[in-house]
Amino acid sequence: MVRVRFAPSPTGALHIGGARTALYNWLFARHHHGKFILRIEDTDRERSTLESNKAIFDGLEWLGLDWDEGPNIGGPFGPYFQSERLEIHQKHVQQLVDEGKAYYCFCTPEELAEKRKLAEARKEAPRYDGHCRQLSPAEVKAKLASGQPKVVRFLLPAVGDTIVEDQILGTVTFKNEVLDDFVLIKSDGFPTYNFACVIDDHLMEITHVIRGNDHLSNTPRQMLLYQAFGWAPPKFAHIPMILGKDKARLSKRHGATSVIDYSDLGYLPDAMLNYIAKLGWGFGDQEIFSRAELIEKFTLGRVNKTPAVFDMDKLNWLNGQYIRSVLPERLFDLCESLLIEAYGNHDLAYMKRVVAVLTDRLVLIKDVVPLAAYFFKDDFEFDPKGVEKYFRQPNAKQILTALKDQLLALSTFTKEQIEPVFKTLATELNVKLGVVIHPCRLALTGRLESPPMYDVVEILGKERVNQRLEKAIKGL
Ligand code: GLU
Repeated sequence: MVRVRFAPSPTGALHIGGARTALYNWLFARHHHGKFILRIEDTDRERSTLESNKAIFDGLEWLGLDWDEGPNIGGPFGPYFQSERLEIHQKHVQQLVDEGKAYYCFCTPEELAEKRKLAEARKEAPRYDGHCRQLSPAEVKAKLASGQPKVVRFLLPAVGDTIVEDQILGTVTFKNEVLDDFVLIKSDGFPTYNFACVIDDHLMEITHVIRGNDHLSNTPRQMLLYQAFGWAPPKFAHIPMILGKDKARLSKRHGATSVIDYSDLGYLPDAMLNYIAKLGWGFGDQEIFSRAELIEKFTLGRVNKTPAVFDMDKLNWLNGQYIRSVLPERLFDLCESLLIEAYGNHDLAYMKRVVAVLTDRLVLIKDVVPLAAYFFKDDFEFDPKGVEKYFRQPNAKQILTALKDQLLALSTFTKEQIEPVFKTLATELNVKLGVVIHPCRLALTGRLESPPMYDVVEILGKERVNQRLEKAIKGL
């Protein structure tokens, strides 16, 4: 049975990178009919907050990533908050101390800082020098009894290599000699990440650890701990980093980095999920995947080794695709309240037609408000560039006047009737169709761009079209 976990540290919002780690674990679990576990790694007492827990839950829920075991629902391997597992961690560290595989260290932060400085001066990587390894059992006992601050360190087997058979990166070899006797239990009694992670992954029977590449360098330490306990390690899979378009590590500079911000901005969760899945994974050149398809097609073998690039344009494109695949009725429901809030109540059928004609142009649902403005407000300004280009042309007045008269004369005001009016006029005046359409668009919408002209004319209706053309003509 596959058992995977997402193990965030609750020190801020759920970021894109974290959400992707959660998603890949979730997809892997669902693909293999296994379990997806949420474990909150809140042992950093200074940085962990309850708001962050909530931000993680909210982000996962928004994306629809449900967990099978974890906070709020429990499960047979709890507790799922790491801070509630301290006794378990203590018991295991004691075992290592008793077996001579870990030892107490009483070096003060000042002493360690001094040693670090000296190492830097020698241009060496700072490594703990094993000073407290030499303490005799009697010395240790005395120091413990005196209540001196202490940590517990792992006694590193300094020889040999640690080899990680990574499911994504392949074989990665680490030299043990570059590691040092790392801390297992901090002076506040809380476990370090590496220690708690190993204990909890083992006891929670995690089969695959799928996480960000930034943890690759922790993996040899964790492997050595598995060895020390005589436990079989899980399989590891490290997913590549996410970069901004400028190839720098994704950060606030590149736009919103927290998942919930995208919910606030109006992105659809399914589009976001699809986009995040594609950040570092792919299936041929397919762009759009339903949730079921992602579950069916997701394998670690298809995760890229190289960094992914977060591309806002692509996300926007995808969101637009999802908007257009939403059933028209549902799309209208999503837009209706925004339109009423912005422009007051209007005839329902009219509002529906406005949303329908704008659908192709929506990147976000809320874009409907600015895009629809001229359908609801008469007092818009004309785009100055358009005025220069289309109202100043010598025959603008003649064109708009003829258009107004002929449209007014139509018995039924439908696209089918409207279209020939424009075409005939262009032929009569021996000008390109655009010469008729552009000033008309400017007069009716104030803008240089709009949905197809005949649709706009039909939806606005005879009366509004007449008034707007008249107003424009007066100004010429
Ligand atoms: N708490 C760690 C983090 O948030 C978990 C890393 C892991 O998955 O092992 O980065």
